[in-house]
Amino acid sequence: MSNPYIEKAEEAILHTYNRYQIVFDHGEGVYLYDVDGKEYLDFGAGIAVQSLGYHNKAYTQALKDQIDKLTHISNLYYSVPMMEAAEKVVKASGMSKVFFTNSGTEAIEGALKAAKKYAYERDGHVDHEIIAMNHSFHGRSLGALSVTGNEHYQAPFKPLLPGVRFADFNDLESVKAQITEKTCAVILETVQGEGGIYPASEEFLKGVKALCEERDMLLILDEIQCGMGRTGYMFAWQEYGVMPDIMTCAKAIGCGVPVGAFVLGEKAAKGSLKPGDHGTTYGGNPFVCAAVSKVFDLYEEEQILENVRTVGFYLTGKLDALVEKYDFLKERRGKGLIQGLEVVGRPVGEIVNHALENGLVLMTAGSNVLRFVPPLVITKEDVDCMTERLEKSF
Ligand SMILES: *Cc1c(COP(=O)(O)O)cnc(C)c1O
Repeated sequence: MSNPYIEKAEEAILHTYNRYQIVFDHGEGVYLYDVDGKEYLDFGAGIAVQSLGYHNKAYTQALKDQIDKLTHISNLYYSVPMMEAAEKVVKASGMSKVFFTNSGTEAIEGALKAAKKYAYERDGHVDHEIIAMNHSFHGRSLGALSVTGNEHYQAPFKPLLPGVRFADFNDLESVKAQITEKTCAVILETVQGEGGIYPASEEFLKGVKALCEERDMLLILDEIQCGMGRTGYMFAWQEYGVMPDIMTCAKAIGCGVPVGAFVLGEKAAKGSLKPGDHGTTYGGNPFVCAAVSKVFDLYEEEQILENVRTVGFYLTGKLDALVEKYDFLKERRGKGLIQGLEVVGRPVGEIVNHALENGLVLMTAGSNVLRFVPPLVITKEDVDCMTERLEKSF
């Protein structure tokens, strides 16, 4: 295909992605439009980022207002947007303190450093270990990659962080088997995203929490993809009643501006990072924090959690019906508006390509899962439209 835009892009941009042959131009609500004006219903939300949909007027106005005032000052000073954003994160989570980052992977780096520092403050040792999960995804920087249970992503970049041991997700015994005197933390996604949409079982999450409490290890829950309302709870762990010691956020927390956070419970906040232990130039600047702050307000005003519960239930029913109807759909997994359909005997990439032709943006997860992570403002009618376009793509 010779699209002049795409040729130009491939000339200058490092080829680390095999991109779909589409050049997007603008978005409105839950629809995206390419440079030729073709419309797409978006069930990817820029990888679970655009929770409020595209061109939310109140959101964009808040950003414009902040640009006119101040975008950046560094972390040597205070700003009102940062205090407001921090207050809202703390209130929504019931946790103690927040550190803003520029991305998800940086939130993971901060969480790992906080866990190591907590253990160091406690016993002065420098050889602590971390337990992570097979098939997890925590990001691409070297620390986050070290706890990402995917050999293909890791192999060319070894040696990685030492002292990381892997256990099986939803298998408490396998976690127990990896614990040593040196273990300082367990890190996992409350709902595994990239790995194929696997929610933690209640028994597993509660079991890991109990182990952590027993042995003074910190529980790090990665809520970068499943948090910010996607499961019908502001943070997915709230449904389980299992508060982590450290939580990581990114993706939807800024709804389109690059921002993440790691959030510490009281124990980790008191006993880990001190002045000089961690920093960032851009992290939590007034511009991105104005976005975070507005996102929390709009979640309340637009009753996002209620919508996720209602429409998530509806989507679940629709996807279950598809599993009944088509032999190549093995099962549905997920919660609220983070759902996956496992496909057998057909390449998922082909289905996604057909979907794009039919005006539906879908993503994959793992090697054989269709992933549904739409904007959280979708309606039942949007779900009907998605189902119709998806069936056409089968
Ligand atoms: C996307 C993602 C990350 C990495 O976030 P980036 O902003 O891409 O660095 C980490 N953990 C999970 C669960 C994710 O989905």
